[in-house]
Amino acid sequence: MMAKGHQAMGLTWGVAAVTFERWLPLDLNGVPETLLFLTVVLIGALLPDVDSKQSKIGRYVYPIFAGVVALIVIGAIWRPDMLAIFTEQRTSFLLIGMGLILLMLTSHRTWTHSLVFVVIVGVVLTTLQTSFDISETLQYGFLIGVVSHIFGDYLTKQGVPLLYPLSQKKFKFILSFKTGSPVENVVVMGLVGLCVWMLASSVMPF
Ligand SMILES: [Zn+2]
Repeated sequence: MMAKGHQAMGLTWGVAAVTFERWLPLDLNGVPETLLFLTVVLIGALLPDVDSKQSKIGRYVYPIFAGVVALIVIGAIWRPDMLAIFTEQRTSFLLIGMGLILLMLTSHRTWTHSLVFVVIVGVVLTTLQTSFDISETLQYGFLIGVVSHIFGDYLTKQGVPLLYPLSQKKFKFILSFKTGSPVENVVVMGLVGLCVWMLASSVMPF
């Protein structure tokens, strides 16, 4: 799926999660929290394509990552005292940095499109929670986004290696479509329509 499709798919899963909140381990209070939750879902929905420099997220993550590393190096030279936050949260920053470097080295649609990746993201989020106090609802939101991405690519002809690295086998839905094809555009429009319907039925009394 293209980035646009993943955003529509992520949004659909996010809106569905908000709609069925009472049956899920989510705690959303008010519009700002719900919007933050949906934003986190959308970021998670783009993450698995971080292994592709051509992808929407890949194009932004690498320059930002390089910029942050450059700032840390410059900061270490000019203002070592300002680096206190990095030394305090060293484990978390090392985890994020090493994770991104590993993702850069993987080939497209392998690790990041497998069930192992979902587990890794879950473990990283739990570890980060101890340093940054991220709410469980937002952690679930990020995971929902990641799973929605893998599901979106599962619908495409290319499929996804769900059991990677145990097996290279690509799994795909029986009714799959080509990435970027007109069928994908129809699916995207259908998902957007579904989101509007879910949102409308949750606010209107019918
Ligand atoms: Zn993908």
